[in-house]
Amino acid sequence: MNRLAIVVPCYNEEEVLDETMRQLIHVLEELILKEKIAKDSYILFVNDGSRDKTWEKIEEGYRKSSYVNGLKLAGNVGHQNALVAGLMAAKEMCDICISIDADLQDDVLVIENMVDKYKEGFDIVYGVRSARTTDTFFKRTTALGFYKVMKIMGIRSVYNHADYRLMSKRALEHLEKYKERNLFLRGIIPLIGYETACVYYERKVRLAGESKYPLKKMLAFAFDGITSFSIKPMMFIMVLGMAIAIITVIAAIYAFSSYAYGRVVQGWTSLMLSLWFIGGMVLFSLGLIGQYIGKIYIEVKERPRYNIEKLLVH
Ligand code: UDP
Ligand code: MG
Repeated sequence: MNRLAIVVPCYNEEEVLDETMRQLIHVLEELILKEKIAKDSYILFVNDGSRDKTWEKIEEGYRKSSYVNGLKLAGNVGHQNALVAGLMAAKEMCDICISIDADLQDDVLVIENMVDKYKEGFDIVYGVRSARTTDTFFKRTTALGFYKVMKIMGIRSVYNHADYRLMSKRALEHLEKYKERNLFLRGIIPLIGYETACVYYERKVRLAGESKYPLKKMLAFAFDGITSFSIKPMMFIMVLGMAIAIITVIAAIYAFSSYAYGRVVQGWTSLMLSLWFIGGMVLFSLGLIGQYIGKIYIEVKERPRYNIEKLLVH
């Protein structure tokens, strides 16, 4: 029988945790009853350095239910890293692993469909939102734009799929080999290469508490996703540079011929304009290249991604 681990990253989620635990335990019990998963399946809550009572709640759950396990990270390392910490800890003690957010925006009932798909032979099963009606207009349009940009940049990712997915043990073992610090799971998982499937559900509103992804984090996440996977922005800059060079040649020919015919203009405006324009372009390119160099700097340090403070396992 397959041992299932559900990994839940939690950051300041004290308001939703009780309900999340109740629902997930219920799902596990049902699946065990239907003999789809092993009796020693469990939920692993990863506390990502919360400042509220999240860890106390996890400890309490651990005492009350044999299905609840907890992992406490020393400090906040962000959603993606917390998720990897949980997946890597669960890997040693499961056959299949499902990751889901703590706020239950993703339908827990499709966990069963995911397990079914796994049994049909898929190593990775993506949870995909069929509708985004509950998201705000802003979140919806920014997300849509993000997927579009990703596509233009040539990054393979599954449309409308967040980090709700099932992975087999061997997929997780391969994931472990990706050592990069600039972590963008959604881009990495398609690279693993095993057979994948999708299950569809409607995304709900957050059960309680507020989003831990304010605009600033969202932008940083999108930027990271693009610059960690694609060097196309540098290519665009190059093309732009070339185009400007060609335009400059034409402008120079014009300027010289004007001079030859004696129509000498004062030329101060055009000079100033081009000065500013070129200066801007140079700065922009330098900044962009700097971004990549910054990434290299971070990668070569090979710092640990997280630090486990405590692991509660039944
Ligand atoms: N999260 C985390 N560390 C962080 C920020 C978020 O572990 O630094 C968790 C959070 O508790 C939740 C999940 O990541 O389980 C997704 O966050 P949220 O629901 O706030 O994002 P949204 O659904 O608004 O994009
Ligand atoms: Mg959410």
